[in-house]
Amino acid sequence: MSINIKNLTKRFGGFAAVDGIDLDIQSGELMALLGPSGSGKTTLLRMIGGLDFADEGTLLIEGEDATVSEPHARRVGFVFQHYALFRHMSVFENVAFGLRVSRRKPKISDADIRTRVMNLLELVQLAPLSGRYPNQLSGGQRQRVALARALATEPRVLLLDEPFGALDAKVRKELRRWLRDIHKGMGVTTVFVTHDQEEALELADRVAILNKGRIEQVGTPAEVYDNPASAFVCDFLGGGTRLDCVVADGAAVIAGARVPVVNQLPPAGPATAYIRAHDIDLAEVGEAGTLSATIRLIQPVGPQLRLDLNLDGKVVEAVLDRHATTTALTPGQTVALRLRRANVYAG
Ligand code: ATP
Repeated sequence: MSINIKNLTKRFGGFAAVDGIDLDIQSGELMALLGPSGSGKTTLLRMIGGLDFADEGTLLIEGEDATVSEPHARRVGFVFQHYALFRHMSVFENVAFGLRVSRRKPKISDADIRTRVMNLLELVQLAPLSGRYPNQLSGGQRQRVALARALATEPRVLLLDEPFGALDAKVRKELRRWLRDIHKGMGVTTVFVTHDQEEALELADRVAILNKGRIEQVGTPAEVYDNPASAFVCDFLGGGTRLDCVVADGAAVIAGARVPVVNQLPPAGPATAYIRAHDIDLAEVGEAGTLSATIRLIQPVGPQLRLDLNLDGKVVEAVLDRHATTTALTPGQTVALRLRRANVYAG
């Protein structure tokens, strides 16, 4: 089901937590809402789900006005970070709950409920644990039950608010892969809130990046990562080291060296360049177009060689391929840096 959001605004007192947002989500899409704490992600999600109503703007689900309709009428499924499963109910009963209380007519028969719940538990790979209670499950298993429960009533839209936020890194990674597979199989329109850049970039078809209640950029993971529309997006997606630069004569110059700029060059004047650690190479000292820096720290990490460099009093991080780095490097040594690409923004 498609979702069309127009000028959606939610105020708490005088403060606009969501401030005139426009966003179109296509049917079957997995859209991540990504942003720092307090940027309005949860408030936007709650308005999509009907848990909060907008003060201004409209929300269409599959072309129908849902701005002020109740959650059950929207047919959305929710999964939250701390999803309270019913503690006194087994896994099976937790998933069956929504079907038992469904207002749909005719009532679903017990046999159909059983089939549907067991199919869902197969899907989330928990069928053998259907008789257990929530306190007999790991955190990751509980979230899988929560997802099966949200999917049980065949929602038109699935809304997830940091569903893996409380889990450790390894389980999160597994669940992400697993959610992506389930989403691909079912094709239900899904909106996913996260403040974790990697999670959004890995999981989503498109990412909406929020800042102070507004959307800074919407695009595929590759689009927003490769072409951040603003300094905020660049910074938030791990823009690397910030360096002062000057834009003049159609080029950006850092400490006398021109750098290749990948985004649209801002107007002439002082500017800020972002350089990612992977976009720095070592060059011959004195080579044209390079910057002179000194090594502060060398850290071999797996296949990488991580360097902290001192450039004009600023610390610059570089990541080199450890096996491809033939030159012997020592702390204190002066080296030449070639910047392969930079994003440059005004100011
Ligand atoms: P987080 O990642 O920390 O959950 P978020 O991006 O989801 O943050 P929201 O929870 O949407 O942000 O909150 C946006 C802003 O609105 C915050 O400044 C928050 O304090 C404020 N806010 C949210 N809900 C309420 C409320 N019920 N009453 C007053 N202010 C609220």
